[in-house]
Amino acid sequence: MDCIFCKITKGELPATFVAESEHAVAFNDISPRQPVHVLVVPRVHYTDVAELAVANPEVLADVIQLGVRVAELTSTSSFRLQFNTGLEAGQTVFHAHAHITSTTPRA
Ligand code: 5GP
Ligand code: ZN
Repeated sequence: MDCIFCKITKGELPATFVAESEHAVAFNDISPRQPVHVLVVPRVHYTDVAELAVANPEVLADVIQLGVRVAELTSTSSFRLQFNTGLEAGQTVFHAHAHITSTTPRA
């Protein structure tokens, strides 16, 4: 399968990793739209968060916990945790992932 996030999670494509957990990795978005913009990506391939939630809630919980940890590491206070789901919602990479964004990066 030709999936860019599968390749990044397996180390076959480079990325700037921020943190990792048993089931997920976190790396900087290649095209950041906020001062903090990190992607949290499960190691296993699911098309989107809806599929992940049904198939593997344990992995989804791990993705969210890693996202919160990334926010604590990278940001001073408020943050967003967002899953774009489906073409019309702006999803462009069809391997489930969370965006962690913040306007208040840690120095
Ligand atoms: P989506 O639009 O699917 O919610 O989010 C996909 C995100 O992946 C976008 O914000 C885009 O900038 C990011 N992205 C796409 N290709 C790459 C890549 O090769 N490396 C990294 N680090 N981010 C990528
Ligand atoms: Zn994938």
